[in-house]
Amino acid sequence: MNVREDFPILDLTVNGKKLVYFDNAATTQRPLSVIEAVRKYDLEQNGNPHRGSHYLSIKATEVYEGTREKVKSFIGAKSSDEVIFTRNTTESINLVAYSYGMENLKAGDKIIITIAEHHSNLVPWQQVAKVTGSTLHYMYVDKEGRLPSSELDKIDADTKIVACTHMSNVLGTIMPVKAIIDRAHSVGAVAVIDGAQSVPHMKVSVTELDADFFAFSGHKLLSQLGIGVLYGKKELLKSMKPFLFGGDMIEYVHEQETSFNELPYKFEAGTQNVEGAASLSAAIDYINGLGFDKIAEQEMLLTEHALEGMKKLPYINIVGPRDLSERGAVISFTVEGVHPHDVATILDSYGIAVRAGHHCAQPLMRYLGIQASNRASFCFYNTIDEVDYFLGKLGEIRRWMGYGA
Ligand code: PMP
Repeated sequence: MNVREDFPILDLTVNGKKLVYFDNAATTQRPLSVIEAVRKYDLEQNGNPHRGSHYLSIKATEVYEGTREKVKSFIGAKSSDEVIFTRNTTESINLVAYSYGMENLKAGDKIIITIAEHHSNLVPWQQVAKVTGSTLHYMYVDKEGRLPSSELDKIDADTKIVACTHMSNVLGTIMPVKAIIDRAHSVGAVAVIDGAQSVPHMKVSVTELDADFFAFSGHKLLSQLGIGVLYGKKELLKSMKPFLFGGDMIEYVHEQETSFNELPYKFEAGTQNVEGAASLSAAIDYINGLGFDKIAEQEMLLTEHALEGMKKLPYINIVGPRDLSERGAVISFTVEGVHPHDVATILDSYGIAVRAGHHCAQPLMRYLGIQASNRASFCFYNTIDEVDYFLGKLGEIRRWMGYGA
């Protein structure tokens, strides 16, 4: 894939070595077209949207609302009213937790999530359970990080919310979200999907999935930090209270009472991140230009090559499915006898960026019986040569630490 020149940051030298950026599940790098779109916004379009009738305010409104339309098409939503801008996945899920969960759940109700959730799709539900008296239950993955279909039987008549990641940021597992959503609907529950790791790597249609809520972050999708999206079904969003209160989200304000703006503005209080929207718009254009077929092909090639190489190293333990068909471009692993932070530091000295730690999924790590792991995550701009370099350096880590091999 000939895209490297679009991403100048990939030419950086770090610690005297060429950067190999394998921390894409944390955040992706930005192509020049995204950087240029932000520059154009700053130079020619910056104003406060929705607030004025002058040129720059109108330009900013066009950028912002144009991005909403683009996101609508990108995720296959039926209406742009169903696209709410937030700061990130975390804020999107909190919006649902506060405006839907806190208001609709009561003692005796159940919230069901998987053990593989990122804290941002776990802690908000703990809070909803604590405040409403409902209870939080888990569907557990098997030893390889796959969700057995029998776990879906936990979704019963008392269940009001089912929340699940589309793709685990630790295991790499692609979760059976369609089956989970259908099951949730069969008992009258709403389904909340955390798409932070899926949207950048596969074509998603929220309409085909029939998700009630779907959350993702721009910064894992080649865009700037600080812009995220919550998709919600119109009827649900309409029925919900606002999350934040203040400017822009109102219709009329009286001394003691306020009526609220229509969708989607009801959920967008205060001046919004239009620069981020400009960035997200250009990022979606870039991804659409490449196409998900090409993106998936390259990312699967990289993942397969890395998995095969890692399987040959006896001191590497791969966390998550070993079968390529069940996972995305995220590989968590441990190196026997070497702490993940040492692994990451040694790899960094070779210019290789990987993650170390609990990956914001402490309950999962505890369940798997590991304190921490490393994680290499790929994006279509990575190369097989980079994977080979990484595999070679993995081989050197144990020697650094004084082991024979
Ligand atoms: N869910 C998953 C699966 C993630 O990987 C992440 C980011 N690591 C998040 C949620 C949270 O994303 P953000 O920090 O952008 O809100």
